[in-house]
Amino acid sequence: MTGIDQLPLRDELRGKSPYGAPQLHVPVQLNTNESPHPLPEALVRRIAERVAEAARTLNRYPDRDAVALRAQLAAYLTATTGHPLDPAQVWAANGSNEVLQQLLQAFGGPGRTALGFDPSYSMHSLIARGTGTGWISGPRTEEFGVDVAAAEAVIRAHRPEVVFLCSPNNPTGTALPAETILALYEAAQDARRAVDGRGALVVVDEAYAEFSHRPSTLPLIEGRPTLVHTRTMSKAFGAAGLRLGYLAADPAVVDAVQLVRLPYHLSAVTQATASAALEFADTLLGFVEELKAERDRVVEELRALGLDVTVSDANFVQFGRFADAGAVWRRLLDHGVLVRDNGVPGRLRVTTGTRAENDAFLDAVRAVTKESD
Ligand code: PMP
Repeated sequence: MTGIDQLPLRDELRGKSPYGAPQLHVPVQLNTNESPHPLPEALVRRIAERVAEAARTLNRYPDRDAVALRAQLAAYLTATTGHPLDPAQVWAANGSNEVLQQLLQAFGGPGRTALGFDPSYSMHSLIARGTGTGWISGPRTEEFGVDVAAAEAVIRAHRPEVVFLCSPNNPTGTALPAETILALYEAAQDARRAVDGRGALVVVDEAYAEFSHRPSTLPLIEGRPTLVHTRTMSKAFGAAGLRLGYLAADPAVVDAVQLVRLPYHLSAVTQATASAALEFADTLLGFVEELKAERDRVVEELRALGLDVTVSDANFVQFGRFADAGAVWRRLLDHGVLVRDNGVPGRLRVTTGTRAENDAFLDAVRAVTKESD
C-alpha cells in the first residue's frame, strides 16, 4: 500500500486533512446547514422535464457562458435585493466553493495573501492553500463580530490581495453591518493602492443571506469594482445536491474568473436543473421564512435553558458554553442527534431543521444538560 507521504505531493499539502463534516446516518441530522425540506413534487417534475430536454442535446457541450441561467440569477437578485443587476455582473459555477476557488485562482496565488476573520468558513483558508495563496487569520470579537479598528490594523499590516468577509458568518451566524463592510473595503483598497495602485478584492460570502434579519449588502457592489458577493443555491433554495453557486460583481470580475474557469464547467444538466429551481423561487423562499421562525424559536428555547447562544442571521445556531464541547457532541449523538463541532472552544452549531427535528434536538439538549447536573 502506498502512503500519501510517499507521493511527490506539494509540501504545503503534506500532513493535512481534507474538508470533512461527518456524514453519519442518524435520525436527526442537523450538521451541514442543509434545508430539511425535500424539493416540492411540482419542482421535481419540472426538473425532470428540463433535464429530459437537456438530455436530447447532451452530444453537444453545454452553453459555456451559462447565459440563460445567469440572466435568471440576475433577475432573482434584482427581485430580492431591489437592486437592478445585469447578467454581465453575475457568474455561476458548481457550488459557491468553486466560485471562491475561481476567485482565488484569478486574484490569489503564489506570492499573494488572503485574509479572513476566524472563526469562519474553513474552506476559505483551505481553498487559499489549494491555490498556493498565503493565509492570514484576523480576529473576531467576543461576540463573534468584526471590530473595524482591529481589522483595519491587520489589513494595514499585511496588505492582503484578497479579503474574505463572511456575512452571515459560518459557523457563528453573525452578520456584518454595511458600515463594517464599507470601512474594510476602503481599508483594503488603501493598503494595496499604496503597494501597486490596484486595490484589493473583497469577497462578501453571503451563502446564508436569505436567512438574515438584515438586508443584503449586495447593492454596495455598484461603483466598487473590487467588491464581490458570493451566493449559493445550496441553502435558501434547498438544493445542496445540485451544486450551484454564483457571484455578483463588476463585469470586469466576471471577465477575470473566465480566465481560470475550465471550459464547459457547468454541465447542461446542472444548468437545466438550476433554471427549473429558479422558476420556483417564491415557493422555496416560503420555506426560508418558516426556517427563520424556527431558527428564532431554537435560539429562544436554548437561552431559556440557560445556554449562551450567539445571535444568528443564518439557518443554524451556535450554542454553548460547554467545558467539553466534544463530549456534549457525542452525548447528543447518543440521543440520535447529529450537530457540528467546528472547533470553536466550548461551542457547537446546530442547523435549523423541521419543527419535529428541532424539538428532538431541544429534548436531547435538555437530557444531556440534565445528565451533567
Ligand atoms: N460559504 C459558506 C459560508 C458556507 O457555509 C458554504 C457551505 N457550507 C459554502 C460557502 C459553500 O457552499 P456550496 O459550495 O454548497 O455553494
